[in-house]
Amino acid sequence: MRLAERSTTTALVAAAAVSAASYETCCDRLASALGDIVTTTPFTANDWFSIQESSLVPACIVRPRSAQDVSKAVTILNSSRASGCQFAVKGGGHTPAGGFANIQGGVTFDMGNLNATALSEKGTSVAVGAGAVWNDVYGYLDGFNLAAAGGRNGLVGVGGLLLGGGISHFSPRVGWACDGVVGYEVVLANGTIANISATSHPDLYRALKGGGNNLGVVTRYELKTFPQGNMSVNTFSYDVSQVGAVFDAFNDVAADPNFDPYVSLQAGLLYSSAAKTWSVSASAYYTKPVLHPEVYSGFEALPSISNTSSITSVASLAAENPTPPLNWLFATLTLGTSSETMLDIFKTLNGSLYDFNPAGGVTWNFAFEPLPSVMLSKSAATGGNVLGLNPKDGNGIVLLFSALWPNSSSSDTIYQKGRETFAAIETVAERKGELRKFEYLNYAGPHQSPLASYGAESLNFLRQVSKKYDPTGVFQHKVPGGFKLW
Ligand SMILES: Cc1cc2nc3c(=O)[nH]c(=O)nc-3n(C[C@H](O)[C@H](O)[C@H](O)COP(=O)(O)OP(=O)(O)OC[C@H]3O[C@@H](n4cnc5c(N)ncnc54)[C@H](O)[C@@H]3O)c2cc1C
Repeated sequence: MRLAERSTTTALVAAAAVSAASYETCCDRLASALGDIVTTTPFTANDWFSIQESSLVPACIVRPRSAQDVSKAVTILNSSRASGCQFAVKGGGHTPAGGFANIQGGVTFDMGNLNATALSEKGTSVAVGAGAVWNDVYGYLDGFNLAAAGGRNGLVGVGGLLLGGGISHFSPRVGWACDGVVGYEVVLANGTIANISATSHPDLYRALKGGGNNLGVVTRYELKTFPQGNMSVNTFSYDVSQVGAVFDAFNDVAADPNFDPYVSLQAGLLYSSAAKTWSVSASAYYTKPVLHPEVYSGFEALPSISNTSSITSVASLAAENPTPPLNWLFATLTLGTSSETMLDIFKTLNGSLYDFNPAGGVTWNFAFEPLPSVMLSKSAATGGNVLGLNPKDGNGIVLLFSALWPNSSSSDTIYQKGRETFAAIETVAERKGELRKFEYLNYAGPHQSPLASYGAESLNFLRQVSKKYDPTGVFQHKVPGGFKLW
C-alpha cells in the first residue's frame, strides 16, 4: 500500500516536473540563471541601422556584463531542446539584413555593455569589448595619438566589422581591420571561454578573420595600435556629366602599381528615384595631415560643384550623427581596376533604374573603393585570414551596391529591382573580363555567398574549424542569422 502510494506520488511529481519543463522557456531559464541582465524590455528603433532588423521582436534580450555571462547563456541555449532557444548576437547593429543580428521570438544577445577599452602597458595594442562601436575606440586612442584599423563610421560595431574583414582608412598601410587583431576572447559553443591568438588555437585565430558569426561569440578583441595624428578630409561633388572623368581620376589612383598607402578613397553615385537625379562624389581622405594631397590632383582638375579640404582627427571624422532606421539593401561585387567598366556599370544602372519610382521613393547608392594589392600583402605577416585574396591578383575595386527607402510596402518591388539591376551589372563586369570572385561579407546581401567566394581552400578550412570547435553546429543551427558554413 505504502509502496503503491509512493510510486503514484513519484509519478505525479515527475509528471509535474516534465510539464513545468516543457512550459519553461529558454528566456525563463536564462532569467533564473542570469537575473536582471535578461529582459523583455524591447529594443528601440535607434538601436538598429535598418527597419528589417528593428522590426524583429525577440522573446527576450540578454545584456551580458562579462564573458562569464555569455558563457552561462550559451551553455543554457546549447543544452536546451525547447523551442524559442535560437539566438542572435548584436554588436553595433549595423548589418542591414533582417535576422543577421536580431531574431523574431528567440533570444538576442545585446553585447553593448561590453564596450570597455584598455591600452596595453607598452601601448602597442588595445583591448576592446566586443560590444563597443568604433567611436569608443577612436575617442579613446586619440588621447594617446594612436589609432587601430576599424570602421570609417564610428557608429558601426567593432563586433561585426572585424568578423567580416573590415575596410578602414588605414587598410593600405596595415591590411584588413581583422589583420590587426592580435587576440580574441571567445565563448565557444560548449560555453568555454577561450583566448585565441597566433600561438593559442591558431586555426581558430585565422578562421575568425573573415568567418563571420560562425565560430563563437567574441567577447573581447585585442587590436594592434599604431601612431596616428590628424588626417586630411577632401570631398568633391560633380555634375553627372563628369561621371566618366571622375571614374578616370579614381582609376588613376586605384590602379597605380605604387598605390599610395595613405589613400582612403571612395567614389560615390547616388540616384534619387523621386527627383530622377544622379549625384557624383568622391570622398578622398588621406591619413596624413596634408591639405589637397597631390595624389588627388585628378579630382582637383575637374570642374566641380564643391571641393573642400580640411584637417581633422580620426575620432572627429568618425563621429557621424545617427540616422533613424530605414529599409536597406546591400550587395557587393569586386572588379579589376577599369574606369571603362565602371562607366559601363553606370550606364547599366541608369538604364535599369531611371524610370523606377516605387511608392515613397528609393535612393540608390553605389560606392567604389580601391582594393589595392599592397593592402592584401599585409595579411600573411599577421597570421593570415580566410578571405582568399591574393596580392598577385593586382589592384582591384570593391563596389558596395545599396538602396534605402522609407516605405516598407515598397520592399518587394525594390528587392526585385535591386536583384535584376545587380545581376545586370555583374554581367557587364563579367563580359569585360573584370569580375572577380570575391564578395566582401560585410557588404554582401542575403542572396549572396561571401564565404563560398573565398574559394574552396578557405571554405573547407572554415568548415573543419567550425566542426572541431562546434561539432553539433550550435552556430550553424541555433544561430540562424548571417552567412552559414554547413
Ligand atoms: C553606415 C555604415 C558604415 C559602414 N562602414 C564600413 C566601413 O567603413 N568599413 C567596412 O568594412 N564596413 C563598413 N560597414 C559594414 C559593416 O562592417 C557591417 O555592417 C558590420 O557587420 C557591422 O557590424 P556591427 O557589429 O555594427 O553589426 P551587427 O549587425 O551587430 O552584427 C553583424 C554580424 O556580426 C555578428 N556579430 C556581431 N558581434 C558579434 C560578436 N561579438 N560575436 C559574434 N558575432 C557577432 C552578428 O551576429 C551579425 O551576424 C558599414 C555599414 C554601415 C551600415
